[in-house]
Amino acid sequence: MKENKCDVLVVGAGPAGSSAAFFSKFLDDYNKREICLLERLDNQKYLHYHEMCGEGVSEDLFKDISPIKPSYIIERIRKLREYWPGDIEIETSMNGYIIDRPLFLKGIIDQYVKLGGKYIQNSLVDFVEKERETKVKLSDGGIIKTTYLVAADGANSLIRKKLGIEGRTEPFIQYVMDKEPEHDTLIFEYDEKWEGDYEWEFPHGENTKVGFPFVDHRDSEKIGGKILAKQTRIVGFGGIGNNMHGNILLVGDAACHSNPLTKGGIRAGMVSGKMAAEAIINDNPLEYDKKWKQSDFASPLFLQAFNRLKEMDNRELARHMEPFRKGVNVFSTIKSLLFYRKYLEIYKAYDLSDKVGW
Ligand SMILES: Cc1cc2nc3c(=O)[nH]c(=O)nc-3n(C[C@H](O)[C@H](O)[C@H](O)COP(=O)(O)OP(=O)(O)OC[C@H]3O[C@@H](n4cnc5c(N)ncnc54)[C@H](O)[C@@H]3O)c2cc1C
Repeated sequence: MKENKCDVLVVGAGPAGSSAAFFSKFLDDYNKREICLLERLDNQKYLHYHEMCGEGVSEDLFKDISPIKPSYIIERIRKLREYWPGDIEIETSMNGYIIDRPLFLKGIIDQYVKLGGKYIQNSLVDFVEKERETKVKLSDGGIIKTTYLVAADGANSLIRKKLGIEGRTEPFIQYVMDKEPEHDTLIFEYDEKWEGDYEWEFPHGENTKVGFPFVDHRDSEKIGGKILAKQTRIVGFGGIGNNMHGNILLVGDAACHSNPLTKGGIRAGMVSGKMAAEAIINDNPLEYDKKWKQSDFASPLFLQAFNRLKEMDNRELARHMEPFRKGVNVFSTIKSLLFYRKYLEIYKAYDLSDKVGW
């Protein structure tokens, strides 16, 4: 049986894992640490898995993960439009991108490998913790012993489950439609039937990606146009309490880091991956948990707001957006503060999600 040793083993090469692996190597000044990135999917399946996404990110992501730069850009995003019940339409500016996510991630992994990181295509199937070492069992019977284990294995995280940690997850469905998109715009449509979530329409080259929470009676019939692909995947959101257990650090959707309101998780995952790498380099995993919890990404306002939206019917959804009917400006803010105070915590969450939601 083959046995390998490393200092850091990152499991899962999605946004969170590729960031954790890249920064573990990038910050390893003397290239003295053995870093391994483990991914279960072969190239074809990897590309397929990671294109199941709206692929929308904000420009701010790249401030957070510098020196990683935007690449494989499909489209520049300049605005965001929301449709709320009561014929309320709100348009705000947004500085962001639609990226070709699989190629963008592959690009980061290439840089990581050039820096001296190791990429292994295999699956974690089990692990045992022993003081300062974790023994990881692979699907081919191989073993990797590691000082730090980074769980970046997504919303269905086997590592999280084996640690006995509950996670909040929700399935989403997305259709790639043969439909001319509204370029440079992210569109969101809110309705009580989405139970706190929304339907989205994101541009994707000549096509449009349309998605919503997955529940049987909410299917594709209402979407006009030819369906080119149907994609389903789950999102982990709302946090898990402790993000580290001894020398095991959970990042991205494995730690349910997607934003409860927007369900955007690329930026949150990449930021938590970077924070975990920084803490590992300092040999202080606790620092990661502390830093994440102190960040706006982990604000409890998001989950509280989501839980309240979930309970609202269309009348109330319309009512709470009424002050913004004529746009988001200083007058709408004053109006909301004076006459809509019962929704103040939700407005605060919206404000914060403008900063860290994507
Ligand atoms: C339909 C849909 C649309 C979305 N659109 C957006 C969007 O536009 N913008 C945005 O910011 N977010 C979006 N999200 C959320 C975002 O996709 C996730 O938050 C993000 O993928 C989380 O990244 P991650 O690296 O934590 O997990 P994942 O992307 O799930 O990556 C986990 C990786 O781990 C690997 N893995 C799993 N188990 C093992 C194992 N045992 N051994 C080895 N490898 C393993 C997987 O193969 C995978 O490569 C969307 C989600 C869905 C479902």
